Amino acid sequence: MSDLLIKNALLRGKKKNDILIQKGMIVDIQQKIDNIDIPIIDADNHFVCPPFVDSHFHLDATLSYGIPRVNQSGTLLEGIKLWGELKPHLTIDALKKRALNLCHWAIARGTLAIRTHVDISDPTLLAVEAMLDIKKEVKDWIDLQLVAFPQDGLLRANSVENLVRALDMGVDIVGGIPHFERTMTDGTESITTLCEIASARSLMIDMHCDESDDPMSRHIETLCKETIRLGLKGQVAGSHLTSMHSMDNYYVSKLLPLMNEAEISVIANPLINITLQGRHDTYPKRRGMTRVPEQISAGLNVSFGHDCVMDPWYPLGSHDMLDVAHMALHVAQMTGQRQMEQCFDAITYNPAKTLQLQKYGVQKGCKGDLVVLQCRDPIEAIRLRPVRLYVIKRGKIISSTKPVSYDLNLSGKNFETDLIFRNQ
Ligand SMILES: [Zn+2]
Repeated sequence: MSDLLIKNALLRGKKKNDILIQKGMIVDIQQKIDNIDIPIIDADNHFVCPPFVDSHFHLDATLSYGIPRVNQSGTLLEGIKLWGELKPHLTIDALKKRALNLCHWAIARGTLAIRTHVDISDPTLLAVEAMLDIKKEVKDWIDLQLVAFPQDGLLRANSVENLVRALDMGVDIVGGIPHFERTMTDGTESITTLCEIASARSLMIDMHCDESDDPMSRHIETLCKETIRLGLKGQVAGSHLTSMHSMDNYYVSKLLPLMNEAEISVIANPLINITLQGRHDTYPKRRGMTRVPEQISAGLNVSFGHDCVMDPWYPLGSHDMLDVAHMALHVAQMTGQRQMEQCFDAITYNPAKTLQLQKYGVQKGCKGDLVVLQCRDPIEAIRLRPVRLYVIKRGKIISSTKPVSYDLNLSGKNFETDLIFRNQ
């Protein structure tokens, strides 16, 4: 809980303002606020926004790339098999070390809230114990939400008891993976069981749902139905929903209003969807990301998650949410000005709503959590993925990076430019 005065901040719409944070909260935003005797930084006409929010991640698997081997086929199913091979070798210390490392990467890139799925398939619940420890360890910097995730299938791996134990230990949210159960019927049964568990405990739900190219994978329909039946509207997220990419248009025209009625939050994971989906296609190859522009037009709250960084499913990544928005914009062909802004919202305001973060934003009364980027607006942020000059948590600077500049030197003549290049 610190005090900080930020001078010359460019807010959305290119409005220049000073921002006053006292006791960790934004108390004033005006064109000019007189200096007072508290720490002051000059944003120097750079864009200031609330911190990025990653609505879908796997902290227990992260940074394990190559252990014990790499994914040869690049498919989701080989990734799950490979994670199964890695699990017997996991230790609490190794899990915590990798997760903490990732959290440091996230902070440096301005992400201060992460919803992470934690595998509960192993009866030792080692990963749950490790992630609960990490949640406590990083609480002053990152809001971590944990989802109890039956990676090997709730019914397929007989994981109901493990899931309930994980919730008893303090895991926040109920997860699921209906498309990975043995049959469509089992998938349906798993959704009903999980929604009833969440309803009895008044918990939010976030399921991996229809992460498949199969147009007949329609578990989202059941998830909507159970959400409405149990009065869980607004509490439920559908992650991935990649089968919607391949569905028949008529069916989607019936499905979108149903998702709207159930107030389902959509979480697409563009880096991973474009990598894992379409692997059984020859040409043309499907992109596999869910129908983001249509979902936004239908009034759904759509977010983008990072999902993986250097794990059995994805060999790359640095946990930069601007990489995620950049990929989404391309995959969904959201190149209109308003659409590019929507891509920025999908890594900030929209996931904040899905995670039910309180007092999030750049307004009086919001928490003093902000990022100063070396650019001028959300579109430039996605284009350049620029330096995070300051990352601020409750008025305290918790990370800073020097600005970069670039001087062209052609034929001995200096061209000073105001071009901003991405800091590597
Ligand atoms: Zn996932």
